[in-house]
Amino acid sequence: MKVYLDNNATTPLHPEVKKEMAAAMEMFGNPSSMHAWGREARANVEDARHKVARFIGADDQEVVFVGSGSEANNTVLSLFVCASSQCIPGTSMRNAIITTKIEHPCVLETSECLMHRGVNVEYLDVDQYGRIDLDQLKGMLGDHVGLVSVMMANNEIGTLQDIRAITEMVHESGAFMHTDAVQAVGKIPVDVRDLGVDFLTMSAHKIYGPKGVGALFVKKGIPYCPLIRGGHQEKGRRAGTENTLGILGMARAVEMRALEMHEEEARLLVMKEVLRKGIEERIDDIYFNGHPTESLAGTLNVSFPGAEGESILLYLDLEGIAVSTGSACASGSLDPSHVLLATGSDAERAHGSIRISMGRDTTMEEVEYLLDVLPGIISRIRNMSTAYIKGGAHAASR
Ligand SMILES: *Cc1c(COP(=O)(O)O)cnc(C)c1O
Repeated sequence: MKVYLDNNATTPLHPEVKKEMAAAMEMFGNPSSMHAWGREARANVEDARHKVARFIGADDQEVVFVGSGSEANNTVLSLFVCASSQCIPGTSMRNAIITTKIEHPCVLETSECLMHRGVNVEYLDVDQYGRIDLDQLKGMLGDHVGLVSVMMANNEIGTLQDIRAITEMVHESGAFMHTDAVQAVGKIPVDVRDLGVDFLTMSAHKIYGPKGVGALFVKKGIPYCPLIRGGHQEKGRRAGTENTLGILGMARAVEMRALEMHEEEARLLVMKEVLRKGIEERIDDIYFNGHPTESLAGTLNVSFPGAEGESILLYLDLEGIAVSTGSACASGSLDPSHVLLATGSDAERAHGSIRISMGRDTTMEEVEYLLDVLPGIISRIRNMSTAYIKGGAHAASR
């Protein structure tokens, strides 16, 4: 049995998205060209923009298509430096950014780079469930803060933040608000007017769309500076010939989310409860990470102290099951997850965690299969790891 439980990393294409993209393969015109080929591509891109905008409650001209969620996040954070260095005439931005300790690496690493470029970056703590503290935010806001970036749903533990309340507080202080909503859009209702945000990041491949395409919502009248300069594409906000095929696929993906999301989330929540109870009943000494209720329905992060997450992942892989660990695998390091450490988890608990992320293709039968094989794997690894520590101590004493 092949069981894919890593939907927060990426998702398969929705069959409707496949159809849409296959049909669009013949359309090769450059949307910037004025002839018939170009006009056809332009019309399709603008139709896609309308669909994406409508899905998040934005106006069409507030949606900028970009190459990924990472690019959208980089654009927002870098825009801040660009604006404060007077690259945009007439705007000067305040010189501090506030973000959280649990953001996606594309926000954290960009923030770190900005620090070296003279921007003051401050990090909000999170509680044991991964939620930020509004009082701490209030204390950190002030005349110096230009931008606050807080993710809407965390990719590792699924915890949701109250973006509307955060935005209200941020706006009272005169700063701009960005949210990385890559894991939220298409899973929970997201309306940019309701949230009040100035910038919002989306990515297609987390919601059954193609890889390599995302969108950035930029509220009308907000200062902006392109990350990628050159052509006049996207009204000068993102140079580079449009990824027409990807953009059309993304629009179809959000259309399908609008139809399927609510029913699917209810189904995922039921399966998550089965998973949670099943793990609790079958395995000792476990910790669930993330918020018990304010969380993505399809995401369950659990720690098995005494068992390395990477070992669990590999053993599950041998059984045909795909999950992930919170480790910073991107950098090839086995550092414990920065998200779990920020929630106050000790290193052993953080090392022993796996993320199970379900999606539209996940079935109850698959959940039961995981529950069948997991207990044996955990006890096997726990037994071995004791032997390993003993061996290590022995070796060290020689
Ligand atoms: C996947 C992800 C991103 C990055 O999106 P890409 O399109 O893969 O670059 C950013 N933020 C969160 C929360 C994500 O889960």
